[in-house]
This record gives sequence, structure tokens and C-alpha cells, in this order.
Amino acid sequence: MNALHADAVYPPSDETVARAHVNAAKYQEMYDASMNDPEGFWGEQGKRIDWIKPFTQVKDVNYGFGNVSINWYADGTLNVSANCIDRHLDTRGDQTAIIWEPDDPNEDAQHITYKELHRRTCRMANILESMGVRKGDRVVIYLPMIPEAAYAMLACARIGAIHSIVFAGFSPDALAARVNGCDAKVIITADEAPRGGRKTPLKSNADAALLHTKDTVKCLVVKRTGGQTTWVDGRDYDYNEMALEADDYCKPAEMNAEDPLFILYTSGSTGQPKGVVHTSGGYLTYAALTHEITFDYHDGDIYWCTADVGWVTGHSYIVYGPLANGATTLMFEGVPTYPDASRFWQVCEKHKVNQFYTAPTALRALMGQGNSWVEKCDLSDLKVLGTVGEPINPEAWTWYNEVVGKGKCPIVDTWWQTETGGHLMTPLPGAHAMKPGAAMKPFFGIQPVVLDPQSGAEIEGNDVEGVLCIKDSWPGQMRTVWGDHERFEKTYFSDYKGYYFTGDGCRRDADGDYWITGRVDDVINVSGHRMGTAEVESALVAHAAVAEAAVVGYPHEIKGQGIYCYVTLMNDREPSDELLKELRTWVRTEIGPIASPDVIQWAPGLPKTRSGKIMRRILRKIAENDFGSLGDTSTLADPSVVEDLIENRANKG
Ligand code: ATP
Ligand code: MG
Repeated sequence: MNALHADAVYPPSDETVARAHVNAAKYQEMYDASMNDPEGFWGEQGKRIDWIKPFTQVKDVNYGFGNVSINWYADGTLNVSANCIDRHLDTRGDQTAIIWEPDDPNEDAQHITYKELHRRTCRMANILESMGVRKGDRVVIYLPMIPEAAYAMLACARIGAIHSIVFAGFSPDALAARVNGCDAKVIITADEAPRGGRKTPLKSNADAALLHTKDTVKCLVVKRTGGQTTWVDGRDYDYNEMALEADDYCKPAEMNAEDPLFILYTSGSTGQPKGVVHTSGGYLTYAALTHEITFDYHDGDIYWCTADVGWVTGHSYIVYGPLANGATTLMFEGVPTYPDASRFWQVCEKHKVNQFYTAPTALRALMGQGNSWVEKCDLSDLKVLGTVGEPINPEAWTWYNEVVGKGKCPIVDTWWQTETGGHLMTPLPGAHAMKPGAAMKPFFGIQPVVLDPQSGAEIEGNDVEGVLCIKDSWPGQMRTVWGDHERFEKTYFSDYKGYYFTGDGCRRDADGDYWITGRVDDVINVSGHRMGTAEVESALVAHAAVAEAAVVGYPHEIKGQGIYCYVTLMNDREPSDELLKELRTWVRTEIGPIASPDVIQWAPGLPKTRSGKIMRRILRKIAENDFGSLGDTSTLADPSVVEDLIENRANKG
């Protein structure tokens, strides 16, 4: 087997198949049904939601550039919070809805039942109403990963307000931009956000942001740590005090299926973040269906997605999908490495987690710390593992499979986007074999097509590569960019007419399985050979000395583009000329001489978004010697990383 394990195929175990909602035959049957009769298929799936007024129309979609409009279940009415809470009260009112695990393991975890979730959400909804929030108004949520974040989301949904969550790690500037971007009436925040043993002063960040917003914006403050805050009377509202008085019941508003549920900005990996708008009926249907099928969730399972609610993954797969399904969903305030590198696995053991869903960036970081952190924990309850956010290097996949899953947990490598609302491609636990690093199969109703990047023609057959587009719509699709429908059409529907353009490249292998090769912008063209950056990165990471790598193209006189690699070494390795040569030879052997790195720069850290994705567009600028125009850096996690890379930029050539 070569070092990348790229040829390996892992069929699901008999046990996994027996347990699964969907086996191979069932997948085929349902996929075919979704293709042959989309209206019938999605009409049926729409019934997993409780409608106030049932829909009679299923789908009304126009992908034509200049006239793009996307509607699902358009004449139905519903309330999303009632679907996530009220309808479970009779059957599972005393079941835990949310397990909350705090940053500090010595603080008590909380188990919030569906009944309690109902009470809390209603109170929050009544508080928002008392502050003047009405149907259609926008509310920005800037909270730590505490149960109140879920109450706030559901409270907005309950009264028909549109939430826009801003990750608690963002700066006052980024917060102000998002408040102004959607003209929000209220910011919900907390005094402080504990994370990894440190505290972010959220309220004072909000105070700073509020200097740059309309004077009418109000601030609702949740007490988390009890830390000192400055108070502006008439503007600031004390949540904990108001909750004591607030009524335990709030009637859910009757919302149209196409009323916006939330606005959420994309991660900003490729450019200025886009304010993605998701609506109610289709989004919830799709989030609930994918949550159940992708993770093979069964009643009574304990499910944990480690994302933050500031990302779409937290929206669809911590809150809306799981709660619509009546699941028990774990919400974690902390980070993977606090107090030490075994925290994730300790939480899995403590709460007997069955499904675990995380990002490659976390896995790569934990892999670098060694296996003992995992091995000392009892992970015997794990059944399904998941990953999302970036292509997962086969090396990290194999570690996840062997060390965490002990070779018995299928790994769902879920490919999707903020824009798609839910998973578009993933292997399903009991239906598909897995290949390390492959997104494998389309979900029901999804028609991936591989296009020729130049001509835009569909490339038929297998063993082909190109631009990934999706033919036709699915219920969870975004409807517009907030306040800028033109940008929506231009970004997703103008380059390849008649398709949804994902911005990602992909390969359909000889078996017809899909692999995401990275962003289309990140494809490098070396002497006429097109190459995904993910492939070269995976080769580098497969070397024992390399912890992480990012690869970009830069102008090269002879080859057109050269290969520029930023390499972070394992803790115990030092840069040297020998190692540099060794890595070059390594990549040549792994992929071929065409992939031989032209430049390798040692990078103590890589520029990442706050959600942990490598920002290659910044690395490209550095490689191009173009430091003046790094673009939108507001979502960058640690600006000092960039300064360091510029300072130590390798000598080209
Ligand atoms: P922006 O759109 O602002 O540049 P972003 O694309 O990083 O930021 P997200 O919506 O958070 O914002 O991320 C979606 C992207 O993440 C996908 O388009 C894809 O490039 C990558 N991605 C997500 N999951 C996977 C996966 N399982 N395999 C490969 N790539 C993935
Ligand atoms: Mg994107």
C-alpha cells in the first residue's frame, strides 16, 4: 500500500449495515426515486416536518441567470421552533435535548430536557418581543457555545425574527459589519466567553461594535462568567434578570416556508464573506433528513458535532437537524486541546457519544500529539465518525479510522457548504464503502456534474476531473445573498449557465465515486498539467516529519505556474536543507515528477479562518510577492502568522 492509502477501500461491517436506516439497495432505490420523481420524493420527505398549513406545491425553481429563484413547499406554513421542540413534548418531554459540556471540565455539565428547552426558548422569545423584536426583524447572536445560544436561535425562529450568528471569536469590527449588514435591531451577547481556559470579553467587544452601529441597536446580555461589564442604561438588557419574570409560554408564529430563518456569512476562505440566506421549510426538511441518514442517527443515540454555532455546521447539525429529529445533541464550549489533547475523547467517554462529527483541522492537530491521548479513553460507544470543512488528507483519515474508530466506525466525509444548508455528498454508513479522502456519493436528490472548466461542457463517464456543479435544486439550498440578489446570481449561476456552481473542483474516479480536489481557484497548472492542491498537500502530510502543509501556485517563467509549498513540521523536527531535499523527492515519488515542489517555505503556522480552514488566497499573494493586497482578512484567526510568513518568505528560484 502506498503512503497515501489512496487505493484503499473500506466496506461497512455487517453490524453497521444491519443497524443502518439505509443500506446499499435502499440507497439506490431512494436515490433513483429522487431522480425520477423529485416532486414525489421531496413531497414525501416534506412530511417529516409538522406544517401548520400543509403545502400543496413542492418545488418551483428557476436556475436561469438573470431570473434565479428557488422555492420549496412555497404555500406551506410552519414554525421551525415548534418543529424542534413543541412536537416532541408529548413523546419525549423528559428526554435530554441538549447536553452541555463547559470549557472547564471541573464545571458541571448540563442536561436540558425538551420540556426545559421549551420553557427557556419561550422566555427568550418573550424577552425579545418585549424589546421590540417583530416578525422579519434581524437579531445578531454573538454568544459562547452555551445553551442560551440554542435558546436564542430557537426564540428568533419562534417569533419569526431572522438570526445572524457571529462567531464569538470575531473582532468588534467584524461584528459591527455584520450588524450593519443586516440592519439588526438587537445583539444578543454574554459577559465573557471562556474558551481553552481563556476568556474573551464579549460584552466589551459588543460595546466597541455598538459605537459603529445605529444608536437604536439594543443589547441583550447573558451572564456566563459574572465578569465585570460596563452598562448603558436603556440600551443594555439583563437577560438573567428578565428571564425570571418572562412568561413560560410564547405562541409560535405562523411562518411561510420561504420566510428567511437565518442569515449566515461564509467562512471567507476565498474572498469577502457572503451573507447566505436560508429559509424555513425546505431548510429544516433537508437538515433533518441528512442528519438522520448521514449519521445513521437512532432514537436514544448521543450525538456530538464539535462545530461552533457560528458556522453553518453548528446551525444544521448541532441545533436544527438534531432537534427536529428529537435527538440528544451535545454542545461543547471548549477546544480540543484544553486542558489537554485528550479532551475530545474524554467528553466522548463521559457522555457515551455514539456519533462524533469534527473537522480535519482538529484531527490533524490531535494526530500530531500522539495516540496515547486517545488510547487512554473508552471510546466503545462510538458508532459513526464524521468530518467536514476541508478535504481530509488520507493520512488523517487513516488515523481517525484506526486510532479513534478502532477500525469499526464508518467515517462520513461530508462535503457541503454554507450555501447548501446540508450535506450534498457523503458516503452513508451502512450503504457505501469508504475511500480515505473521498466524498463518494451524492445525497438523495443531488445531481453532481463535472464540467470542463473552459468550455463548461459536462464531462461524461468515469475517471474524469473538472469543475463541480449541481444540476437542479434541493430543499436546503440558499435562496439569495442578503440584500444582494445580483451577487447571488453572479457568484453561483453566471460562470456555468443553468447549474449551481460550487467553486470546488472534483474528480469522479474509475468507480464513479467523487473526490473533492479543492477550490477551483486553487487548481494549479504546471506545464499544462492541472493539479489540485489537495493532492500535493496530502503527499506532504504523509511524510512523518510534516504536521501540516498548504500548497499554492505562483507565476513561473517556464512552467506557467510553479508549486509553492508552506510546510509546518512536527513539534520534534527542525528545518534543514536535507529535509527540504527529502520532501521534494518524497512528493516526486508519491505523485510524480510533475508535482515536484519548486519552493518549500517552513511555516511555523498557516493562515486559517476562524473555523480552521487554510486561507490559500493569502498564501498565494505571499508566494506572488504581492503583499499590498491581501484582500479581506477579517475572518483570519491569527494575523501574526501572516506577518511571519511575509518576513520569512522563501527566495524563489
Ligand atoms: P468562502 O465561501 O467565504 O470562501 P468557505 O467556502 O470556506 O468560505 P464554507 O461554506 O464554510 O465557506 O465552506 C465550504 C467549503 O469547504 C466547500 O466549498 C469546500 O471547499 C470545503 N469543504 C467542506 N467540506 C468538505 C469536504 N468534506 N471535503 C472537501 N472539501 C470540503
Ligand atoms: Mg465557499
